[in-house]
Amino acid sequence: LNRCLAEFGTTIFAEMSALAVRTGSLNLGQGFPDADGPEEVREAAVRALRDGRGNQYPPGPGVPELRTAVAAHQERFYGHLGLSYDPDTEVLVTAGATEAIAAALLALLEPGDEVVALEPYYDSYAACIAMAGGRRVPVTLRAEPESGTYRLDLDELRDAVTDDTRLLLLNTPHNPTGTVLTREELSAIAALAVERDLLVITDEVYEHLVFEGEHLPLASFPGMRDRTVTISSAGKTFSFTGWKVGWVTAAPELITAVRSAKQFLTYVSAGPFQYAVAEALALPDDYYTGLRDDLRAKRDVLAAGLADAGFRVFRPAGTYFITTDIRPLGAELSQDGDGFAFCRALPERAGVVAIPNAVFYDHKDQGTPFVRFAFCKSIEVLQEAAGRLKALT
Ligand code: PMP
Ligand code: GLN
Repeated sequence: LNRCLAEFGTTIFAEMSALAVRTGSLNLGQGFPDADGPEEVREAAVRALRDGRGNQYPPGPGVPELRTAVAAHQERFYGHLGLSYDPDTEVLVTAGATEAIAAALLALLEPGDEVVALEPYYDSYAACIAMAGGRRVPVTLRAEPESGTYRLDLDELRDAVTDDTRLLLLNTPHNPTGTVLTREELSAIAALAVERDLLVITDEVYEHLVFEGEHLPLASFPGMRDRTVTISSAGKTFSFTGWKVGWVTAAPELITAVRSAKQFLTYVSAGPFQYAVAEALALPDDYYTGLRDDLRAKRDVLAAGLADAGFRVFRPAGTYFITTDIRPLGAELSQDGDGFAFCRALPERAGVVAIPNAVFYDHKDQGTPFVRFAFCKSIEVLQEAAGRLKALT
């Protein structure tokens, strides 16, 4: 393994899901739903396979049906904010958001460029910045136990930008903290990007999973449309994480750049699923609000269960993750507040798998006592997990 990748080892999600299988534990670690997405969307995939649509190399930017559906989705949900995209020149289909992140970073970074990213961050960010020869500059979201939220310090963000900063890499709604950046925060970020002439990659895969407040695409802020690469994915919105269908929306020059990298990563993305996701995107508004309401109820069940079991809960405004502080469990049970040790021992102790937030930090000390639980599971599974955790105390 080369020097650039050696520090990353195996992703925590693979490690923890393997541990869940080995110990027969309830897996609230890796974020994937325990129920597949809509039946009619699965049928659409079967039809595409059977009818021979997409069984041979689809077009590089993605099949026209899906690009058109992505553009229509942006218009439906964000058109009132002045955001719309041309399906032919401003949409690119990728192999999940993961490939979109990789291709965008590979396309836009020169070796040595700095990327300012909010910490904790989704683990592929650090690895992809490294593969692209960039340098990551983390700005830490501060945990505020009193309010049970995380806060972005805009002064810290401003101070992190140097003459070597090429781009900002954002994620809202934010994995793992559940933070949804506010209009004020996004305005300030946009003003900074304009002032310092930065590009922004914004990972908005949880755009429809917002329980309080609203999701505002960064690209809709003044001066941002043409400097922002927006990423989303069918994995989260339609509960098909295994299909690996994602997409990028951006101005034509940026799409062309990202596509230049994508063509040598996967060339194209798998065909039949693209037709099915095109149908999924056109589902009525009820589908989207139903998904959100279902997950809000699940959030409330797990948050209450974790609090009852003695965790301090950071109540997520979005995503399907809850971050907790394990220190209130006491020194013995929390392994002295060490989230790694806690998560490694938890399957044997309680039959539950969770993720230590420290893996998402460069400043490990900032993330040590925090542990993330996924709530995209049935209510019964969440209640069972909460009961097992409570039995520990
Ligand atoms: N970004 C974030 C913030 C995520 O949580 C995930 C999913 N785990 C991804 C990107 C990757 O999405 P995909 O599965 O579509 O590659
Ligand atoms: N995004 C999911 C999570 O944060 C899982 C992604 C993965 O396994 N790479 O849990």
